[in-house]
Amino acid sequence: MNPELARFVTDIPAAIALFDAEQRYISASREWVAALGLMRGPLAGRRHDEISRIASAPLNEVLRRTLGGESIEFWRFSDSRLPQKSAFNAQPYTAPDGKVTGATVVLGPASGSRPDQTTPLADPLTGLAERREFAARLRSILEEQDPAQRAVVVFSLSLDNLRTINNLHGTHVGDEIVKVTAERLTAGTRSTPQDQSGSARPADMVARLGPGLFGIIGGSAPGDCEELAARLLRIVQNPIAIAGKALRLNASIASIVTGEAHATEEDVLRDLDLALLHAQSVGPNRVVAWEPALTSAASERYALAEQLRRAFDNGEFALHYQPVMRLRDNRMIGAEALLRWNHPSDGLVSPGGFLPVLEESGLILEVGSWIIREAVRQFESWHLLYGRDIVEWIAINLSERQFIDPAPLLATLRALHGSGFSVNRLKFEIGETALTHNPEVSSAALAELERLGVRVAIDDFGTGHSSLTTLRRYPAEAVKIDGEFIAQIGTSQGEKLVDALIGIAQGYNASIIAEGIETDEQRAFLRRGGCELGQGYFFAEPMDGARLGAHALIHAVAGERPAAAPSWMPPRLNPRTSTYLLPAG
Ligand code: C2E
Ligand code: MG
Ligand code: MG
Repeated sequence: MNPELARFVTDIPAAIALFDAEQRYISASREWVAALGLMRGPLAGRRHDEISRIASAPLNEVLRRTLGGESIEFWRFSDSRLPQKSAFNAQPYTAPDGKVTGATVVLGPASGSRPDQTTPLADPLTGLAERREFAARLRSILEEQDPAQRAVVVFSLSLDNLRTINNLHGTHVGDEIVKVTAERLTAGTRSTPQDQSGSARPADMVARLGPGLFGIIGGSAPGDCEELAARLLRIVQNPIAIAGKALRLNASIASIVTGEAHATEEDVLRDLDLALLHAQSVGPNRVVAWEPALTSAASERYALAEQLRRAFDNGEFALHYQPVMRLRDNRMIGAEALLRWNHPSDGLVSPGGFLPVLEESGLILEVGSWIIREAVRQFESWHLLYGRDIVEWIAINLSERQFIDPAPLLATLRALHGSGFSVNRLKFEIGETALTHNPEVSSAALAELERLGVRVAIDDFGTGHSSLTTLRRYPAEAVKIDGEFIAQIGTSQGEKLVDALIGIAQGYNASIIAEGIETDEQRAFLRRGGCELGQGYFFAEPMDGARLGAHALIHAVAGERPAAAPSWMPPRLNPRTSTYLLPAG
């Protein structure tokens, strides 16, 4: 654009912008830049999303329609950042041959009454209202009602395996799923049962709040909340036939009956999000009704997540290793890496209490990659120090989240592979429930892991609800029988159970590792029953890498489990220099 002309546009005393046919800025006035919170720097040639700090869905929609030839007034509903009701007024710019080559958009006060019917803030894929419209509707309902008796039923519903479906079958299939679900939800909520006044209450609105997220305002008869939630779940669980496949969706649903705690639509949406997170964490296919305790628990978890982030950045996480023994001859074959938090005041913390927060916050993806690199570093430093490998493999626990979102994991493995480390020295442990929660992703991710050459063991075998079929569906190299069963050895029922689990594993040629062996009796029973490997306090507790090295050395010298702790100091790792401090003399 001619610089004179560009300056002319910049100085126009109104919020105005010109776009080309690809929705890229040609120019915009200073007022526009201020009103839309655009970042500094040249505008020309960039799309609004790239430079905006404010969600830009409405403007994208405006441009999409204007560049399609429409002249529109499009309301922006006031949000916390924009006090008054304003609208985008958009005109297509047409070349002499009739082709639309750009758009002029002016942001100003909205004219007349709300143009609800003509220009709804619709989601282009489903035609449903989108988040802003949903929030605006919620607000107007809340405003209409007496705050003391305010009770509106609101739901959010997420399609939890949509991302997996996109990855496995392509986004066109994912889009189709979203469309069909939108139609089903609209049809299925068209009329809810009668409220107390006897009049039929249709659902006030079904909206699309995010890629796989729907919001439903279900009228104002709280008694129907559970009924309607169950109906929503049935609707989405009905398989969808696409491209010759019947695809099954995993959904999570949150419901809320608004009350005094919900003065604004933002309060409702925040608490709904919390309840949905909770539903997803206990899910799949669960409905969770919001209650005040969820909000206070969430703020505690939020604080813990912050602490964990700092702990990770400060290097407070460490791995400990528990020997895995061959029962036949008491030889140490492998070691399981177990995460520990070296808390500055609480000392060494086991992961049970903080793993769920690592998972929920997504931090596990980063921490999980670090765990792999750290285990490999340890492997190599044992080799350097002892001149040989002291274990054949290290087992690493994978969390469900790493499995659902496998990109960081796979990237770490590929990098290792590229660096020359043979990744078959790692064995990944995946909990049985994590596997069965996500059947489709499990098969795909396992196949990918196998392709890369890593070995997979099913952890906590026996605790899932269908161990009989787990191995048939997911052939794994090994299964780990949970300590809960080992503890029951000595009772006839417990022994039958352990024998049965060993039988299932043998039937699928999986090797068996027993966990939580605490007594010689348990060891002997397992050995007789054909269990090959075992770990537990009977042999050794988890210990840091330096101690495990020393343990292995003593173990090799003694040829069996050392009867007592060694009388000399094992080498310790100097944390500052990462060199080994060998005992003097
Ligand atoms: P798991 O993988 O089943 O690990 C076995 C747990 O049993 C460990 O607890 C271990 O310290 C404990 N244990 C070992 N021997 C005995 C015994 O003889 N008796 C009893 N009662 N317990 C024994 P820990 O380290 O607290 O880990 C708990 C769980 O946390 C693990 O269960 C695993 O699911 C998870 N976890 C641990 N480290 C990691 C990690 O690095 N990443 C991920 N994603 N999860 C981890
Ligand atoms: Mg494990
Ligand atoms: Mg286990």
